[in-house]
Amino acid sequence: MENFQVIAGPCSVESENQIIEIAKAVKKAGATYLRGSAFKLRTHAGDFQGLGKEALIFLANAKKETGLKTVSEISDIRLIDLYEDVDVLQVGERSMQNTDLLKELGKINKPIILKRGRSATVEELLASAEYILNGGNTNIILCERGIRTFENATRNTMDVSAIPLLHSMTNLNVIADPSHATGRSDLVEAMSLACVAAGANGLLIEVHNDPPHALSDAKQAITPEEFSVLMTKVLKIREAIK
Ligand code: PEP
Ligand code: MN
Repeated sequence: MENFQVIAGPCSVESENQIIEIAKAVKKAGATYLRGSAFKLRTHAGDFQGLGKEALIFLANAKKETGLKTVSEISDIRLIDLYEDVDVLQVGERSMQNTDLLKELGKINKPIILKRGRSATVEELLASAEYILNGGNTNIILCERGIRTFENATRNTMDVSAIPLLHSMTNLNVIADPSHATGRSDLVEAMSLACVAAGANGLLIEVHNDPPHALSDAKQAITPEEFSVLMTKVLKIREAIK
């Protein structure tokens, strides 16, 4: 991953049409990677768990259709063969300390987005990155996605300071995920701009073509139109801090 990358797409891949439609829209707005989860780790057993294998086929088709590279979360290394067409593997916050998974990802020749656990310190995030690095895979992108605090008006609390702090502690790229950090679509733009101003090497943003009906993380999803406005502002901030 080089320079500045914007990863956009739905929380979950819900159908082939959905992912292709979103892929086209986010590409037009300037996204460089398409995201979409296939296997979801959910708090509640009754919640949508992802389309699984089929979702990765739909994601690969959206990639063929648009030329966008793809990102998808992996939590079970036994399924690695299904991720052949996925360009960047994401370790979700729940898996940040799944050291067996991290060791296996250390042997893989693909970039890994390592999300900070909601209750993990910056030092613990870097300690987890060591597990991947020790296997020989140095292509790791750290992701600040909000931490759990006493504040409950937002889903998590975006730790903007973690971005410059991590830059002072490591040479790894650091991206920010304002979607999971806030859990609120109305706060995604402001937090995106703040994180870019703070030096983030990229953003990961949930975009959905029909947010109220998204099967997961509906409240934080922004529309392709909102994403397009956000991108214009992000580029201005990038220009301002050059
Ligand atoms: C996601 O990216 O959809 C996700 C579940 O993120 P996190 O692991 O940060 O909650
Ligand atoms: Mn999500």
